[in-house]
Amino acid sequence: MKKKYVIILLIFIIIFFGLKCSKNKMEVREGLDIRLYLSREKKIIKINLEEYVVGAVAAEMPASFEIEALKAQAVCARTYAVRKILSGRKYEGGADLSDDVNECQAYISPENFKKKDPDRSGQFLNKIKQAVVQTEGIIIVYEGEPVDALYHSTCGGKTANADEVWQKRLPYLRSVNCKYCTSSPYYIKKYQIECSHIKRVLNIDKDIKTIKIVERDSTGRARKVKINDHIFEASLLRRKLNLPSTWWEFIRKDDKIEIKTRGYGHGVGLCQYGANGMALRGYDYKEIIKYYYHNVEFYKMNY
Ligand SMILES: [Zn+2]
Repeated sequence: MKKKYVIILLIFIIIFFGLKCSKNKMEVREGLDIRLYLSREKKIIKINLEEYVVGAVAAEMPASFEIEALKAQAVCARTYAVRKILSGRKYEGGADLSDDVNECQAYISPENFKKKDPDRSGQFLNKIKQAVVQTEGIIIVYEGEPVDALYHSTCGGKTANADEVWQKRLPYLRSVNCKYCTSSPYYIKKYQIECSHIKRVLNIDKDIKTIKIVERDSTGRARKVKINDHIFEASLLRRKLNLPSTWWEFIRKDDKIEIKTRGYGHGVGLCQYGANGMALRGYDYKEIIKYYYHNVEFYKMNY
């Protein structure tokens, strides 16, 4: 889509959802109003986009991260939301966005955020607001269109290609080497899982004689696993065994399987621990974003 059409679309949604230019007490500028579905409370709230981004950053990234990483997360969360709104997809009750992570990105209200860590939440919330205010209205675009700003906790050394994870052919969501997320607790982890447990959760009748990764994607993540004579999708195993990613090595240890995992999440797009690692090395949020999304540009929405 050409840049001018996207700009027209953005102007349309801003007009459609209502334009407010005053500043509120939280020093986050009001702009585009959205309708957000809260899945636990089962209700829709009306909230402006910038305040929504504060709640999305608070829910999606540790607030102890560096400010430039939080700014990168704010731009990703805003872009993700704008793209969802532009797609016209509606959530429960006709909402524009949802806080259900299975369908959209997470969101936590400032009130609930404060309850989680009463001693430090005030300071953390101010830091997140600062990240949102300093990137106000900025989104990531590719050829003038807001990108699908996917992100994950930890890539484990290399991000994934979107077309290998979901058959999404998006030229900016291509794998990059990442040496910045080694401090993540999920960079490399080992799990010992009883064969009987694997047998039970996958409804396998016979004892597990062999377990082997028979297909990997180009980044090394498992695609298919053969257990005895049956082939299982790696994504199914990840879900059933509650593993952080599909990047594995298996070692048989008597009646257990040791699974060494790399990373946490789908591995596509921005690596959050990597973003923090880059921020610690002095990169700013634009450099961080341009590292994880190929050939993208920035566009500032003027509310
Ligand atoms: Zn990484």
